[in-house]
Amino acid sequence: MKKRNAILSSVLAGAMLLSLTACGGTDDSSSSSAAETGDSSSAAATGEASGEALGADTQAIVDRGILRVGVKNAVVGFGYQDPATGEYSGMEIELAKKLADQLGVDVEFTTVTAATRTELLDSGDIDCVLATFTITDERKQSWDFTTPYYTDYVTVLVEDSSGITSLADLKGKLVGVSSGSTSARSLVEAMIEDGDIEGTGFSADTFDPATWTDGVTFQQFDDYPAISTALSAGTVDAFCVDKSILAVYKTEGRSYIDAQFAPQEYGIATKKGSDFSTYCNDFVETCLSDGTIDGYISEFNLG
Ligand code: GLU
Repeated sequence: MKKRNAILSSVLAGAMLLSLTACGGTDDSSSSSAAETGDSSSAAATGEASGEALGADTQAIVDRGILRVGVKNAVVGFGYQDPATGEYSGMEIELAKKLADQLGVDVEFTTVTAATRTELLDSGDIDCVLATFTITDERKQSWDFTTPYYTDYVTVLVEDSSGITSLADLKGKLVGVSSGSTSARSLVEAMIEDGDIEGTGFSADTFDPATWTDGVTFQQFDDYPAISTALSAGTVDAFCVDKSILAVYKTEGRSYIDAQFAPQEYGIATKKGSDFSTYCNDFVETCLSDGTIDGYISEFNLG
């Protein structure tokens, strides 16, 4: 790996330079390198310098010199890509840069959706996912997750003109959700708990938004902008997902219903059984205990 004098200013300068390059280049919306990282102090944290051997999967990332991370591109404060500059920002971006810095490697971001993040992890195109990825027992059977670094809640966005203000008002409505998300199941559970629907036959393990018809129905979309468009067009009555994701679509004339539910704990996801999972978990635990995460929460107004 090339030796670099990475101080914070050069991290920023590098990110700007690379994003400018990406702007004039190809396909910067789906994948672009950003941020120069790695200096003598961060190299000490790789374990190499401290004498601790890295596991084979983690060492492979160090040898490659690039940490490939799946991130969101439209979740302000978590993973957001400026359309003008191509530059990514947010808490998950900062965490990824810090993780790369600790490994002494560069970071490369690939934009993922709720539907694509696991495919890209499984195929080995990315090393980890930092993309508002909720930890669930079901998902833990297929991927490793770190200790949570943030907890969000699910809510529902509607057009004010719809008159929908509560969970009960969603009875008989068609709700837009993202494929591969926890949203539909969370909403059904919340409506059952609220007494709005009976939920006979509901099973968290086998729940499928495509076939659910008791009291509320769902249309699944590949990405969030498409749900927002469908909400404006009136082809769906409501848009349900984590509040952090909805924020960017809460434009004038739209409101959240009067309920938030289903805590969503976000963790870094890695391939199941990889030694990099342990490395990431140690990293998150350190970031939680040394105030790094709290710092990002206030920096990005996520309180
Ligand atoms: N956080 C939720 C999930 O993991 C919502 C989907 C998303 O992250 O886009 O299912």
